[in-house]
Amino acid sequence: MATYTPMIQQYLKIKADFEDAFLFFRLGDFYEMFFDDAIKASRELEITLTSRDGGGEERIPMCGVPYHSAPNYIEQLVKKGFKIAICEQTEDPKQAKGVVRREVVQLITPGTVMEGKGLLEKENNYLASITNLDSLYGLALTDLTTGENKVTTVSSFQDLLNEIYSVGAKEVVLSKDFNEELLKQLKDRCEVTISYEESTDIHEIEPLVQNLKEDHLKITFAKLYRYLQRTQKRSLEHLQKVEHYQLNHYMKIDLYSKRNLELTESIRSKGKKGSLLWLLDETKTAMGGRMLKQWIDHPLMDKQAITTRLNMVETLIERYFEREDLREQLQQVYDLERLAGRVAFGNANARDLIQLKKSLQQVPAIKELIKSIGNDYAEKIAKGIDPCAGVTENLEKALLDNPPLSVKEGNLIKDGFNKQLDLYRDASRNGKAWIAQLEQQERQKNGIKSLKIGYNRVFGYYIEVTRANLHLLTEGQYERKQTLTNAERFITPELKEKETLILEAEDNSIELEYQIFTDLREQIKESIPAIQNLAKQLSELDVLQCFATISEKRHYTKPSFTNDSLFIKDGRHPVVEKVMDRQEYVPNDCTMGNGSNLLLITGPNMSGKSTYMRQVAHAAILAQIGCYVPASEVSLPIFDKIFTRIGAADDLVSGQSTFMVEMLEAKNAIANATSNSLILFDEIGRGTSTYDGMALAQAIIEYVHEYIGAKTLFSTHYHELTILDQKLDQLRNVHVQAVEENGKVVFLHKIKEGAADKSYGIHVAELAELPVQLINRAKEILTELEKDPKIELTQTSEVNEINEMAQLSFFNEELEKREKKTTISSKEMQVIEKIKAIDILEMTPMDALNELYKIHKKLK
Ligand code: ADP
Repeated sequence: MATYTPMIQQYLKIKADFEDAFLFFRLGDFYEMFFDDAIKASRELEITLTSRDGGGEERIPMCGVPYHSAPNYIEQLVKKGFKIAICEQTEDPKQAKGVVRREVVQLITPGTVMEGKGLLEKENNYLASITNLDSLYGLALTDLTTGENKVTTVSSFQDLLNEIYSVGAKEVVLSKDFNEELLKQLKDRCEVTISYEESTDIHEIEPLVQNLKEDHLKITFAKLYRYLQRTQKRSLEHLQKVEHYQLNHYMKIDLYSKRNLELTESIRSKGKKGSLLWLLDETKTAMGGRMLKQWIDHPLMDKQAITTRLNMVETLIERYFEREDLREQLQQVYDLERLAGRVAFGNANARDLIQLKKSLQQVPAIKELIKSIGNDYAEKIAKGIDPCAGVTENLEKALLDNPPLSVKEGNLIKDGFNKQLDLYRDASRNGKAWIAQLEQQERQKNGIKSLKIGYNRVFGYYIEVTRANLHLLTEGQYERKQTLTNAERFITPELKEKETLILEAEDNSIELEYQIFTDLREQIKESIPAIQNLAKQLSELDVLQCFATISEKRHYTKPSFTNDSLFIKDGRHPVVEKVMDRQEYVPNDCTMGNGSNLLLITGPNMSGKSTYMRQVAHAAILAQIGCYVPASEVSLPIFDKIFTRIGAADDLVSGQSTFMVEMLEAKNAIANATSNSLILFDEIGRGTSTYDGMALAQAIIEYVHEYIGAKTLFSTHYHELTILDQKLDQLRNVHVQAVEENGKVVFLHKIKEGAADKSYGIHVAELAELPVQLINRAKEILTELEKDPKIELTQTSEVNEINEMAQLSFFNEELEKREKKTTISSKEMQVIEKIKAIDILEMTPMDALNELYKIHKKLK
């Protein structure tokens, strides 16, 4: 280190404290990065890697980004999950003795980023912290952009992952001693950036946690707070009182099921488009959009609270004109929560304050409007609304309507707001008027029409005379200052005197405007809690009007609640219906409860089984968030949990096979469901061999029937399972209707009572346009198989395993009979597997011949 230049030594010293971040080291107009940071950043940002002599033996890798375009680069890095330490020069280079003093002024991380396109308007940007207390976990969440703080206790690591995934936390703060295996899971499953904080101080957070009883939650939050303090190094005054929420007050939907049901992001696009959130989002404000997502993530279980929301939605549907007015007013409301955050953080500019003003100006009318619609809940919201009139008034009086982006160039404050500012402005305006007059005077005096007085930064004010007119001037009249090709520029002592006055007045005025602006911003800080509360009320209103709007637009129905039975008439899948056009969608009924809690759904692939199952889950979720439901009549029990096993998404991240994921999801449901839960099992057992899969499917059905009693929809292509209705009294068969027309299958997407009479696999293959020869061959084979009942072969080891399970009573006699009939020898099985594994396109004719020879030999 000794051989490095003092600046590089300074760099290394600072970098040592920020090892896991890119250090943006300010050097003049650039942020430079050195050593490994430079190599990595040049790759991530696609910028040129250079090098620099740093006093050591080898040149130091270096790359840099211009100061003014740094936000773009920072945004790119944050989006990729990196952290950036901003290191500024903290003394005037002219005053510095030796190396200029530099300090990290802020650490920007995925969970603390305050601006930029990476911040989605309608999504919270949560930073989380976790503490571990025996088998419990404390979870604290902060959205620095809005100031929202929440804590909760979770009783298992799985629930913790669920919650972190569901709120979409970007970064998690832990202690260094956090369990490594769990840490890996956290990183893999939730794709979060990890940060560490060891120290906590409960006293400093006391004002924010007064309502909190549990010490471990205080500690969890204190950890988060300390991390923010250490990394942000600025006012955190907008942080709101910490809210303690209990997960068991909400319907529980685990991480897999949230993904499967595509509640907030679609499986295909991994984005909002195509999800339930996307469909529902008729919110007019960013805050409402965020609250909508929170509500979808946490459906209620308290009937009273749900009904309150539903009644308000009903009122808003009935009051069409008021709702339209409300929507228009909300449209004018900007993101009050994030504006308040920027005010506290000290990075709100005059345009932000204009947005604040415009938003607040809408509030009195909104308040009046909702007071008038005749609903208790609306009345309550209206009462909670404080329009912050003082703030509006101040902003109206002080700020010009179209201020520039920069707050250091003037043009922010209205005339008449501040006496001193008016004086400066007068001086400057008078000076300018005097100059305009002087121009007239000099033109007349010299008889030069084109004489003009101009201004530039280098020479200040000057008199300009074109070369052609120079002869008209009397010698010594003006002092020559600059010669151009076609003109001469002059000054006079009088002009310079005025210039000093004007420039001084302008400087003073700009400085004073900045001062007034920051004072105003400081003053608004006092109203931040009121603005945040207002934001909450408006967000709620926005979500409720959104429910009313979508319910009316898409013809949804108000649900009612029962203790056990479920009845949905003409139910539709909200998203599929939207995508495909309502006319085409075939509505379906669903009846459960009263002794029939298990629906076994059979029908061909692609006939609509999973759509049907999902629409039941969506109905329950919509009802419990307080929205109407796509159906013509709906009554439902209040569900405590929803579990799904749908689709066959490999869990690539954690390297688990499709079948393992399938089984994990099934286990999760079986271990946690209660009689008040809803379970959707779609084609369970499909990921393994037929008998294996069928055995598991049946055993799962029996188990749910026997021990859980949850309302369960179970779709299967194992036709054989339909006879279970004779044995399990809660099980009812339904099927998706399909008809054959001219040898082709047509799906009607209609759910009917009873079991499907046959399987349509080959027809689906036909629909998928597999080659005609192949389809014909399959048909031939099928006919053969159906004709020939004596394909009698010995059992594979796999089937032996199943037989063992059967002895353990997982199997019924029917199934055993069927197995014996159709098993094939292990030798043949191996050959089949081998053929399946062959990649024909990668083979030469010779290879193919060799393979065929081997197969032939084996079968002999
Ligand atoms: P399965 O689970 O039986 O394989 P899906 O539920 O995935 O079938 O449905 C296959 C396709 O059929 C869907 O993508 C959708 O386009 C269409 N579909 C499903 N249900 C309906 C319905 N009720 N009305 C109209 N089209 C439907």
